[in-house]
Order: sequence, then structure tokens, then C-alpha cells
Amino acid sequence: MRVELLSVTPDAEALIARCARISHRSEGKASPEADRELIRKLIRWGHESVLEFAHAVFLIEGISRACANQLTRHRLASFVQESQRYVDVRDRNLVHPPSLKGELWEKALRLHEQARLLYEELLQEGIPKEDARYVLPIGTETRLVMCANFRELRHIIRLRGSKAAQWEIREVARRMLELMRKEAPSVFCDLEVEA
Ligand SMILES: Cc1cc2nc3c(=O)[nH]c(=O)nc-3n(C[C@H](O)[C@H](O)[C@H](O)COP(=O)(O)OP(=O)(O)OC[C@H]3O[C@@H](n4cnc5c(N)ncnc54)[C@H](O)[C@@H]3O)c2cc1C
Repeated sequence: MRVELLSVTPDAEALIARCARISHRSEGKASPEADRELIRKLIRWGHESVLEFAHAVFLIEGISRACANQLTRHRLASFVQESQRYVDVRDRNLVHPPSLKGELWEKALRLHEQARLLYEELLQEGIPKEDARYVLPIGTETRLVMCANFRELRHIIRLRGSKAAQWEIREVARRMLELMRKEAPSVFCDLEVEA
């Protein structure tokens, strides 16, 4: 799995604080430290709408279709996902769930290879990619781009980083959090993704 930050709102903390200060007419108090302190307060008070002014865009590769299905349930984020209708995906790997070990994982790999060979055969027979893909397992790798504002990103990381979430999406959340803590520590420093 690879999670890359493609783009983030420049000076996001300063922008969020500046927007928040409009409501109090306290623009004169701006400084990096004061901005961070203000953002921490806003989050504590639940005044999170100002976090919507900043956005991040991630490229997420090598996750399963199962994980992508979970991620794309987040309606306030925007997505573009590699299309199995248009792209030949015969070389995509099977994502390895850590619980599948030894002989069981070998069996899963054999099944994936059979599915891959059938996929190839279907394409050779002239079946469109959009129909041939039906024989591929849900663990097949995909890639997508996700854009979310900071408020939604906090929501996704909190929900998908919790122990109740599955290991794969939890790992996506962990990596997103790691990247966002560097970009906007005051917005993301209170979040944790449990191992
Ligand atoms: C551990 C776990 C298990 C899950 N299991 C299942 C399952 O078995 N089956 C299943 O179908 N899904 C399951 N889900 C998905 C879950 O039901 C949500 O669809 C998904 O987490 C998106 O969350 P959300 O709706 O809060 O967030 P988003 O879509 O990201 O929305 C963010 C927030 O905006 C607000 N919002 C967005 N749209 C609306 C709206 N139309 N009306 C009112 N408020 C809105 C809500 O406050 C929402 O929390 C699971 C999720 C988790 C984390």
C-alpha cells in the first residue's frame, strides 16, 4: 500500500485561523502560535466548520477493492478510482490480509492466479473488460485519488482509525494521519490510530 499526499491547502493553519477570526474581528492577533492555539480551542468547542476551508488530496495505491468500497462510502470526500471497465488489470496483485498465513495464503494465491488466467482468456475471447472483471476477487489491488476537507478528513481518520475498523483501512487512516500531522499539527495532533 502507498499513500501519497498529492496536494494540500498552502498555509492551511493560517487560513483556518484567519477565517475563524472573521467571526470575532480578531485578525490583529494572528501569529503561528496564536493560530494553532485558536484552532485547538475551536476543535475543543466543536466549532469545526472552519476546518472545511482547507483540503488535502491523496493518491492511494495498492489497496483492495474491498478497502476502496469502504473508503468511498464517505460522501463528503471526492474520489476518482481506476476503472476496471477501461483498464486491463491482469497484472494486479492480490492484497495480503495478515490473517491468511502459510498454506491458506498459498491457496488464496492459487485461486487468484486461476481467476487472473480466466480474466485473460475472457479478454482474448473478445469479452469486454467491464464484464471480464467479474471473475476477479475483491482482494484485487486498485488505486484511487481522494480529496477531503480537513473536517471530513478528521472524521474519516477517527472512524477508520478505530479498532472497530478493518486492518487495511485502518492502515490507510494511519498513513493519512502521519502525513497530515506534518502539514497541520494543530488540526490533527489530537487524533490517534491504534495499532
Ligand atoms: C467499523 C465500521 C463498520 C461498518 N459496517 C458497515 C456495514 O456493515 N454496512 C454498511 O453498509 N456500512 C458499514 N459501515 C459504513 C458506515 O455505515 C458509513 O457509511 C461510513 O462509515 C461513512 O460514514 P459517515 O456516513 O459518518 O460519513 P460521511 O459520508 O463521510 O459523512 C460525514 C458526516 O456528514 C454527515 N452526513 C453526510 N451525509 C449525510 C446525510 N445524507 N444526512 C445527514 N448527515 C449526513 C454525517 O454527520 C456524517 O457522519 C461501517 C463503518 C465502520 C467505521
